[in-house]
Order: sequence, then structure tokens, then C-alpha cells
Amino acid sequence: MAEVKSDIEIARAATKKPILEIGAKLGIPPEHLLPYGHDKAKISAEFISQQKGRQDGRLILVTAINPTPAGEGKTTTTVGLGDGLNRIGKKAVVCIREASLGPCFGVKGGAAGGGYAQVVPMEDINLHFTGDFHAITSAHNLLSALIDNHIYWGNEQNIDIRRIAWRRVMDMNDRGLRHIVGSLGGVANGFPRETGFDITVASEVMAILCLSTDLKDLEKRLGDIIIAYRRDKTPVFARDLKADGAMAVLLKDAMQPNIVQTLENNPAFVHGGPFANIAHGCNSVVATTTALKLADYVVTEAGFGADLGAEKFFDIKCRKAGLKPDAAVIVATARAMKMNGGVKKEDLGQENVDAVKKGCANLGRHVQNVKKFGVPVVVAINHFTLDTEAEIRAIKDYVATLGAEAILCKHWEQGSAGMEDLARKVVALAENGRSQFSPLYPDDMPLFHKIETIAKDIYHAGEVIADKSVRDQLRIWEDQGYGHLPICMAKTQYSFSTDPNLRGAPTGHTVPIREVRLSAGAGFVVVITGEIMTMPGLPKVPSSEKIFLNEQGFIEGLF
Ligand code: ADP
Ligand code: MG
Repeated sequence: MAEVKSDIEIARAATKKPILEIGAKLGIPPEHLLPYGHDKAKISAEFISQQKGRQDGRLILVTAINPTPAGEGKTTTTVGLGDGLNRIGKKAVVCIREASLGPCFGVKGGAAGGGYAQVVPMEDINLHFTGDFHAITSAHNLLSALIDNHIYWGNEQNIDIRRIAWRRVMDMNDRGLRHIVGSLGGVANGFPRETGFDITVASEVMAILCLSTDLKDLEKRLGDIIIAYRRDKTPVFARDLKADGAMAVLLKDAMQPNIVQTLENNPAFVHGGPFANIAHGCNSVVATTTALKLADYVVTEAGFGADLGAEKFFDIKCRKAGLKPDAAVIVATARAMKMNGGVKKEDLGQENVDAVKKGCANLGRHVQNVKKFGVPVVVAINHFTLDTEAEIRAIKDYVATLGAEAILCKHWEQGSAGMEDLARKVVALAENGRSQFSPLYPDDMPLFHKIETIAKDIYHAGEVIADKSVRDQLRIWEDQGYGHLPICMAKTQYSFSTDPNLRGAPTGHTVPIREVRLSAGAGFVVVITGEIMTMPGLPKVPSSEKIFLNEQGFIEGLF
């Protein structure tokens, strides 16, 4: 067998085209591409607003089964499908999230796809890129600084310093900053108080940037952020500190989508990157809606498995942005089916058709769930070299019993040549106009009822339990006019239940709600079930130990 090249080796060997040529493929004139070097650009706000009247292309969601350590490959499949659609003659754009810098130094694994289905320049995309995350970090921390400054100068808003909800952020995995005490050092330095840092992708500013339709909407949402509460429990907004204007200024360029290219020189929009737990985990609305104006097909990815990612994509992003997906692709792998069927990671190399069959229950649940949103589904089997024919056959046979089709995809190994079948199937699904998308629940359903609907219809839980304090809080928000907001569930990605070890397709489990938070600027109510990490740590041997610049000045060890 030929030696397998690493992702970064493949990416480095890519024959990239100048970014102006890539933009031209979508009809973006050079004066509306704002280049960052030769292979990255932002698209001008003026050009975006000029596209308003144009007809939209078709929107395809790529989602997946519950992740296992075996790996599924949503981003890889999203990129591969974009190239596959271009290969069969459709004008297609990929829309994915930007990568968070911190995790690159922890556990190996980039966010630009893999094998022969990648977006480039992958080193830049995974590190500083066009500076969007730095802008978001700055805008977030400006507000943090304004809060302490307001208190220092007399606290005219009567902020209860024990009830400040707004923390600080940085784009680094740093567990030492999760809980800190700030403003120490005496009278000149303010009033000491407990606070802490989250990673930038967990910032509400990130979620806001990704859901805003333009700069005006962005500024309004920034003003709507609840930063703290007064002693009488009334909220204090970012607008009350007149922070919204300056924050929007810092985010002006970050709001413009970034365009790069795939290994096959097809356009890809890489923009925004909200967490998939306490936020909705999709790329920006501006990038997606712009791409829809410029291409026949837009392929986009939602974070985590379909129980979280697809549900939030449909119920938050599509609902709020008025998007109507035409088809959904659920990524599965034989390895992950085996793990769901009880096989240990070290035994994944051996054929085990029975375990694949057993693990298929997880896939089946996701297929049926996505159909509940009225969106036609196809399963993509992301091929790994050690998969056997009998294992692939078992998945195909199983999916056929659900009235859907599973298609073997070899994009990781072959690029678009390994993706033609799926591309044709997606076109067939999208063009027969069968999609009758509608969100799972209406806006006017009470908040607790919305949570129960998700838990019962999507997770197949028996009940949702919550303390009186949680239910009271939801009622108060309804009284304050937030009852129409959608729910953003923060649950483990590894299971339909709240127990990460419960694989397959469990039923009748209990969903306990630990906490609820209001992201009033982003426009959703976050429901937290179990431990949710908003500032990751680094492992005992972080991958940073193997990252360095080689003699030619190229980055080694990043992936
Ligand atoms: P996700 O988006 O679901 O988190 P990615 O597409 O980022 O997953 O893939 C995770 C990792 O798995 C990447 O490093 C990628 O190179 C690898 N990978 C994906 N598909 C395959 C495959 N078919 N064979 C081998 N490795 C793969
Ligand atoms: Mg991904």
C-alpha cells in the first residue's frame, strides 16, 4: 500500500489558485474581494447587500451520528460533497466554521477537513486566519472592561456585583483562568469580585456575529446582551453602558465572510465558529445567505451529532434566518457503528458485522429525527481503509429498511472522484422539491414545553426534570417577553441521553436540567444538562510539544 500522507502534507502540496480567481467563479468582482494575502479574502458588505433580490440556490446540511472516538468526518464530508457537486457540473460552495486556535495545541485534529477533502490554507485557517476571533475576543473584553469601569466610577446602574453574568474570553485552552478574582490591589483598582474566562468560541458575541443579518442587526443584538442583574433582579443590558456602538466598530470587518478554496480550487466560505453546546454550532448566517445567492448548491455543516447539531441548525439558525434546507446528509462510519455496537477502540481494525448491525440503531434514530423536520435524508458512509464490504453492506441494508439510502463515499482517499454518487443523490433529493421544512416547535410554545418537545421527540426521553427555581426562571423570562425564543440545548454530544456512556438509541431516560441561561443578544435560551465546559484544558501531553517550524520555515506537527 502506498504511504498515507498526513493532512498537512496533502494541504501543502495543493496547487492553489489566486483568491481573486476563486471569487470570480462566483461572480464576485475583484473590487469586492478584500484580500488577506494571496489565498484568503473577505467579501465586501456592499457586494453582499447588492445580491438581495437574487434567487437562492439549494441548501444542504451535513450532520452525523453521535460522535465516537472512532471519528465520523462531518467537515471532511462537507468539503468532499462540495467538490463532488462541482465535479458533476453544479456550482457549489461549502460553508463551514472557523477553527478555534486553543484546541489546536491540545489534542491533535484540525478543522479544515481531511485527506483529499480539505480547505486551504489549512495552517492559516486553524490559527490566526483573518483575525475574526481576535476581533470577537476584543469586542467581548471591551464590554468586560466597561462593566468593571462602570462599577469603579460609582455604579450608576446599581449592578449587583455578585450577579454579573458577563465574563472574559480568550482563544486558548487555559484551565487556570476558569475561576479568578479580579480587581485586587486596593482602592485604585476597583471592587474585588469573582469572575473567570471562557474560550472565545463560547462568547455570546460569537453567537451574535453568526446570527446577525447585517451590521445594524449586529449592533442591536450587542445592545440586547444581558451583562448583569440589579439587586431587584432586573437585567442590565450592554446598551445601558453604551457599549454596543464601540463593540460593533471592533466587529465591522469580522462580520464579512471569508472566502478560501478547497484542494480542488472550488470556493469555500469559512466564517464564524460558535460552540455547539452553549451556542448553536453553525457557521454565520451572512456567509450562508450570501453563498445561497451566488451558487446552485450550498453545503454546510452543523457541530456535534444530529440530535444537537441538526436540531439547532433547524430550530435556531434556519428558523431565525428564514432558511429552507433542501436535503440533509447524515455521516456515518462503519467504525463508529461498531463502537456503538459495543466494540472497543483497540478492536476496531477487525471485521465485526454483528456489531455494525447492532450499532445501526443510533444511525436509524438520527435518520428518523431529521425526517421529522420535513427534510429528505441520505446517509453518507465515510469510507475508512479498513472497512470491509460486509460491514458496508450491513449499513446499506439497514438504511434501506428505513426508506432511505446509504452511499459509500471515498472523498478522503480520492477527493471529488470518490463523491460522485452522493453528489448525484443529493441533487436528486433537492431537485424533486420534496423538502417541506418546518421547525420542531412553534415560537409561541411555552419555554418548558419546548424543552420537553426536544427531549421527547429527538432524544426519546421519558421526562424532563427541573427544580422549581428553573421553572420559575423560565416563567420570569416569558413575562419579560423572551418566551418566543428558541431553545439551545447544552447536552453531551456522545449520547441521545445526558449520560455520555449510553450509546445506541436509548429510550425512556430522564433529562435533568441543571441550569438555564438567557442569551438575549443571540436570541436563545440555553438549557444546560450536566457538566458543560466553556473553557477547555490541555491534556497531559499537549500536541503543542510536537509543533514547530522546520528548516524551510513550514509548520510541522499541527495536525
Ligand atoms: P468532524 O467534522 O465530524 O469533527 P472531521 O471531518 O474534522 O470530523 O474529521 C476528523 C478527523 O478524521 C480529521 O483529521 C480527518 O482527517 C479524519 N478523517 C475523516 N475522514 C476520514 C477517513 N475516511 N479516513 C481517515 N481519516 C479520516
Ligand atoms: Mg467539523
